[in-house]
Amino acid sequence: MTAQPDGPDGPEDRLRRFATIWSRAVFPVTTTSSTRPEFEAELLPLARRLSEVLRARAFDAEAAKEVGAALVDAHCTDPEALSRTLDCVDAYLVLYCGEGGDQEDLRARSARMQHAMAAGFAQALRERTLAEQEAIAQAALKAQGVVAAALHASEARFRAVFEGAAIGIGIADLDGNILQVNEALTRMFGLTDQAMRRGNVREWTHPDDAPQTWRLYDELVRGEREHYHLEKAFYRPDGTVLWTNLTVSLLRDADGDPQYQLALMEDTTERRLLNLRLRYEATHDALTGLPNRSFFFERLEKALGAGEGQRFGLCYLDLDGFKTVNDSLGHAAGDRLLVEVADRLQGCATAPGEMVARLGGDEFVALTTGPDTAQEVDELAERIMNALLAPVSVDGRELTVRGSIGIVEGPAGERSAAEVLRSADITMYRAKSAGGNRYELADPEADARAITRHGLTTALPAALERGEFFIEYQPLVHLGDGSVRGAEALVRWLHPQHGVLGPDRFIPLAEHTGLIVPLGRWVLEQSVRQARAWRERYGDGADPLRINVNLSPCQLTHPGLVQDTVDILERAGVTPDALCLEVTESALIGADDDLLKPLRRLAEMGVDIALDDFGTGYSNLANLRRLPVSVLKLDRSFTQSMQQFPADPVDLRIVEGIVSLAHGLDLAVTVEGVETGAQAEQLRVLGCDTAQGWYYARPGPPDRLHELALVDTTG
Ligand code: C2E
Ligand code: MG
Ligand code: MG
Repeated sequence: MTAQPDGPDGPEDRLRRFATIWSRAVFPVTTTSSTRPEFEAELLPLARRLSEVLRARAFDAEAAKEVGAALVDAHCTDPEALSRTLDCVDAYLVLYCGEGGDQEDLRARSARMQHAMAAGFAQALRERTLAEQEAIAQAALKAQGVVAAALHASEARFRAVFEGAAIGIGIADLDGNILQVNEALTRMFGLTDQAMRRGNVREWTHPDDAPQTWRLYDELVRGEREHYHLEKAFYRPDGTVLWTNLTVSLLRDADGDPQYQLALMEDTTERRLLNLRLRYEATHDALTGLPNRSFFFERLEKALGAGEGQRFGLCYLDLDGFKTVNDSLGHAAGDRLLVEVADRLQGCATAPGEMVARLGGDEFVALTTGPDTAQEVDELAERIMNALLAPVSVDGRELTVRGSIGIVEGPAGERSAAEVLRSADITMYRAKSAGGNRYELADPEADARAITRHGLTTALPAALERGEFFIEYQPLVHLGDGSVRGAEALVRWLHPQHGVLGPDRFIPLAEHTGLIVPLGRWVLEQSVRQARAWRERYGDGADPLRINVNLSPCQLTHPGLVQDTVDILERAGVTPDALCLEVTESALIGADDDLLKPLRRLAEMGVDIALDDFGTGYSNLANLRRLPVSVLKLDRSFTQSMQQFPADPVDLRIVEGIVSLAHGLDLAVTVEGVETGAQAEQLRVLGCDTAQGWYYARPGPPDRLHELALVDTTG
């Protein structure tokens, strides 16, 4: 049976239990005249509101504030009542009212609620105290004013208010000599009545006095102002500090001449401490004690708003491989690592104008400000990298810590905090993808690229549907006789805003999102159809034109690869030997038989497989025998090294060695990136079979190949 809403252990019952616990905790420190059960009944609707705020979709800070204020109305004016309430909310609210929700979210929500409640409480208490002070001042003035009429009765009334008031009251003459104090005031100061009356108001200075404090006082005793209100600190005889909300009023005699001053004081020491604590908690990270994200934003905004000549420098640090520590050693170990890192970072930024903060997770920032940050920020990054060098010992293990830092430096007043942080974040990722354990300097161009990268990724799927991709063909030329043997298909994206984008801009994104599979299939379809058109035009002679199509590593593992390829070839009516699939060398390093199986099947059918970018991946040459490849495509870097004249003899020997090894294994050798006739000649001498490069033709539309093929076959 499911629990009824109001049955035992239903939500209503659990809410009541929360209200009971709450009322038990707070009742002893209230000044209410109700009984405990009556008090609980008063808290129940407040508990219900808290429960609603806890579970509402959007956070309602106002509602939580109102609950804090309602506590004051319920006679919970003692700071201890607030403190106990917050403890109670912290420990029990999620437990009793958060059923079914995500516990971590609920706990975070509960923490925000507590801050809002404390703020509401403090505000309500302040308003109430002001109202009380006002009432007492009125009573005092009245007492003075109606002296002649009903001196006795009025004085008795004034006495009663004076002695019974919960706030401190003192009366002094205009020279500051203290004439009368009530009990509450002596308690607040920790002095006896006599000791207080021996003093003079003028002696009550404190280093934290607001600048206007004594000016207002002088104006009042000269009769130029009727009252003033301030927050003021006093020393107690034991050296501790008393903070008060102070209202001073001028009392005039029957003729209207200034005669006395009346001070009303409310002890705000504890509330102030509580506020300081709340402020600290709201601006510091609980785990490491470092300033948190919101505090950092405040400081960064201030730095960016500084005047002319002022600059800022920011290091955005993300630990490398922190997730592995968490996953393998557990969160407790991860936490200890973060605490140690936080300590070390703090030691790196100790000069004035420098600060370190934790943004969350394993992300930290260090900020430096002033006129010379260009140099300082580099030194700061150096210090941070050095601080991470020594391993951190956690649970008897020595953990190596590495980090990637993105640096942004610049003049104040040009960018917003959010822009600066985004740039730092992008730069940090650049450092990470360059291998980590390094720092990089922000670069507006790299920023712009990273921002468009995101936009491109989201635009990719629609681009395929809208037909924004097209293919260019780059001829493959036989080095021996210069004839065109085929072409490589290279995909491009005609982006509506950015114009033509090369594959390096979007293939990695398509691989990342999986769109590479349909995109690759489309390229294959188009290219095979193109091959069909060439063959129709030039015939299926002894050396028919062939098409090379690049295959991404992700496509290799896609289960439909072989079937899709077969279907596409059949539909176009093209034989498998017209097709060569290019697979980059790095994708096949260490490949197991499962990965090679589809390639092997395709090779058995007669499709050529080329090992693209050969020489960049350090593959084991002996391993080539295992692979179902029939062509090696030497990477452009080999051709480039032949650009200078005379070419480096060692480079030549390497290429020669590769060629003879390839031929020994029955592999054809193609070279890429041939840009000059000298290179072509050199490569021909070294025994390469085919070549591709700007020397022959840049990638272009398919009809260009017609022209080339015609020139070469007829000329
Ligand atoms: P790749 O397969 O190594 O393609 C050769 C690249 O070298 C092409 O760049 C081509 O334009 C460029 N190139 C040709 N001749 C010269 C030359 O003489 N000098 C220089 N400096 N460069 C030359 P592109 O078109 O930017 O393609 C880059 C890479 O993108 C390709 O490298 C290939 O790995 C990938 N790619 C292109 N199309 C596709 C595709 O349809 N699918 C997949 N998966 N990858 C593709
Ligand atoms: Mg290629
Ligand atoms: Mg290549």
